[in-house]
Amino acid sequence: MATDAPHAEIGIIGGTGLYDLPGLEQREEVKLTTPYGEPGDALVTGVLSGCRVVFVPRHGRGHRLMPHEIPARANLYALKMMGVERVVSVSAVGSLREELEPGHVVVPDQIFDRTRGTRPSSFFGDGLVVHVSLADPYCPQLRGELVGAARRAAGTAVHDSGTYVCMEGPQFSTRAESRLYRQWGLGIIGMTALPEAKLAREAELCYATLALVTDYDCWREGGEDVTAEMVSEVLSRNAAAAQRTLTALLESLPSARECPCGSALEGAIVTAPDVVPQETRDRTRLLIGRYMDWDDEPGTPG
Ligand SMILES: [Zn+2]
Repeated sequence: MATDAPHAEIGIIGGTGLYDLPGLEQREEVKLTTPYGEPGDALVTGVLSGCRVVFVPRHGRGHRLMPHEIPARANLYALKMMGVERVVSVSAVGSLREELEPGHVVVPDQIFDRTRGTRPSSFFGDGLVVHVSLADPYCPQLRGELVGAARRAAGTAVHDSGTYVCMEGPQFSTRAESRLYRQWGLGIIGMTALPEAKLAREAELCYATLALVTDYDCWREGGEDVTAEMVSEVLSRNAAAAQRTLTALLESLPSARECPCGSALEGAIVTAPDVVPQETRDRTRLLIGRYMDWDDEPGTPG
């Protein structure tokens, strides 16, 4: 489905500490409205390493949105409207393992959900049932490319796997929670990987996370407990590593996707096409229209 939105190949979602991409050339602000509301802020399109990129400040400019207030569906749908196929999410995280030190880069390969189920985490529903696989929540190809780029350009240690536990927040963990997550074998902790990863899969977008360790959460005996002030010191160093990594990634990323992400909805749609209500069809047509054989005239998505 064609949209009037400007075109971009790659979406970059910037988290805490990364509110802009200074290297972005030919910048243009884009304001889009989606059937799922408005993105958290104006998106910024431009060119980085020769690629058409769109940047999404996850928490809004000036960091105005709590993790549970981020309009993730609108953010991801807006990227889909622009023709984006791949999304790199940049996240500040706490470390649950001694070897994942503050200032290190982690490219996680798994996610553990500790959100409270109140964040809208699907584009579907309202008469349309879809069950996508989330066994491997990250795109294997994009993840591999991201690890390579980080090794070349981040200028710090790079860990090529680890489980990201997504907690609800906005408060940091209690010591009991932090110790339990360690016993469960989890690697890093943050507040924003979900529902982003679920929505990216439903939108058939490749998704990978560049996680930058800011602190040791609060499990570590003898260590200082994490405060927002300590975190902000490491953040600026990490932001520079993220920018170098993203620039290197886009220089070397093959343009063709060689991964299953682009057909994630194949076999996942349970509902018979002809019983899906008109309003739901109009809202989801951009995402699943090519599977549904709907011959009605599209109305106005709303
Ligand atoms: Zn992929």
